[in-house]
Amino acid sequence: MDCLFCKISRGEIPSKEIYSNDSVFAFEDINPQAPTHILIIPKSHYENASSLADAEPEVLAALFKAAREIAEAQKLAGYRSVFNTGAEAGQSVFHAHLHLIGGRALSWPPG
Ligand code: AMP
Ligand code: ZN
Repeated sequence: MDCLFCKISRGEIPSKEIYSNDSVFAFEDINPQAPTHILIIPKSHYENASSLADAEPEVLAALFKAAREIAEAQKLAGYRSVFNTGAEAGQSVFHAHLHLIGGRALSWPPG
């Protein structure tokens, strides 16, 4: 399948790897919006978090556990974890990915 994040998780396209286990891969966002901006993805392809929740809920949970581990390792005081679902919400890559954003004060609501 011609999917950017499938290729990244297989190492066919280079990335700055942060974390990997059997089901999860994490790497630095190429266009960071904060000092820490990491994408945490399932190694299997799902278009969005909702599809992942239906098919492999334990992997959806694993993404959040990876976020916690990474945040602890980077000593973040807090962090935001975001799934954009659909183009109107800003999704541009249609392989489910959790944005882990932190390292600065974050305002709310987002734009
Ligand atoms: P979204 O807009 O929620 O679909 O998020 C896609 C994210 O992927 C954006 O924050 C992009 O900066 C990021 N991105 C796109 N291409 C790459 C890449 N080759 N390596 C790392 N991050 C990427
Ligand atoms: Zn994919």
